[in-house]
Amino acid sequence: MKGVFPIDKFKEKNTPFYYYDTDLLRKTLKAVNDEAGRYENFCVHYAVKANANPKLLNIICQSGLGADCVSGGEIQVCVNAGFPSDKIVYAGVGKSDWEINLGLDKDISCFNVESLPELDVINELAAKKNKVARVAFRINPDVGAHTHANITTGLAENKFGIAMEDMEHVIQRAMDLKNVRFTGLHFHIGSQILDMGDFVALCNRINDLQCQLELHHINVENINVGGGLGIDYTHPNKVPIPDFKSYFATYARHLKLRKGQKLHFELGRSVVAQCGTLISRVLYVKQGKVKQFAIVDAGMTDLIRPALYQAYHKIENISSGLPVQTYDVVGPICESSDVFAKAVDLNECRRGDLLAIRSAGAYGEIMASQYNCRPLPVGFISEEMQ
Ligand SMILES: *Cc1c(COP(=O)(O)O)cnc(C)c1O
Repeated sequence: MKGVFPIDKFKEKNTPFYYYDTDLLRKTLKAVNDEAGRYENFCVHYAVKANANPKLLNIICQSGLGADCVSGGEIQVCVNAGFPSDKIVYAGVGKSDWEINLGLDKDISCFNVESLPELDVINELAAKKNKVARVAFRINPDVGAHTHANITTGLAENKFGIAMEDMEHVIQRAMDLKNVRFTGLHFHIGSQILDMGDFVALCNRINDLQCQLELHHINVENINVGGGLGIDYTHPNKVPIPDFKSYFATYARHLKLRKGQKLHFELGRSVVAQCGTLISRVLYVKQGKVKQFAIVDAGMTDLIRPALYQAYHKIENISSGLPVQTYDVVGPICESSDVFAKAVDLNECRRGDLLAIRSAGAYGEIMASQYNCRPLPVGFISEEMQ
């Protein structure tokens, strides 16, 4: 089955562009809120880096989710979109002074601190403003995730977070400083994780760390387990909404929360990936020596995931009902890696046909670049195509 798209409206538009099905986005947000809502003390934030399109941010903000930012620019777009500052958290290994100052001025709920020198700088900048910054420490739990090597983040070899052995020392340091207040622990092990066992491993690790801290009478108000829940790139029609039920139930079952503790989540991909599609036109069909190429007007500048992580996106020819043929779908950029898919079956392609590159709502539009002096792709929401 092909996705249901307003093809006549698409034909009037210049390509390439992103199309966001806001009906699906709202259903997804409802599923997140329903499933997390079963548990007291679960707070969900949206990881803005997955997609910061203001039209989507607005819908996400209205659903009540908080925001997880990884830069000053993201803090600013979240404030503009209407996220309340007490629902904004800010992580990142390399926070610049202006970004920390912005977070302090906006009174965000938490800085997720990733090193001791960063803690000292936050303390110093907060002191200048006569403020006390709420901080959590991002701990590297040395837990692997069964996902692509470029998107694991919780192994000892990764640049993220503070080593477990240093945890008590940095907490002690925060307690000694006047302009920071220790409020919790933060973790994030990677992205596109579909094996719940990876999250169980994280829970077990956090349980151990909590016991260790209790021996030292250190109280933790907030535990933040990051994001990472994956989506079904192969079956966007059959599985449009990820299994949030199992995801939250896994944490409810395996993580031993203490009385009054809040559990925070930072979901990016699982919220926005399936509602987005990159729409592109076939420019040429070229018969190569051993292959047939469908050359399209979208490229890695519009959607870099296939070139960057060999990511799979389902592709459909939404203009054609002709018998299928096999194509390499490639873009116009001057890079050999500018390939969306190799040897895929598509209904026979002709010049002008529209191809839908599915499940592109996360890490798509937001990663677009102007390489080759190309214009950035535009994003339309379904309301704009009625
Ligand atoms: C990227 C990121 C997320 C979101 O990851 P998804 O896989 O998109 O859910 C959450 N927290 C932090 C700190 C991140 O860097």
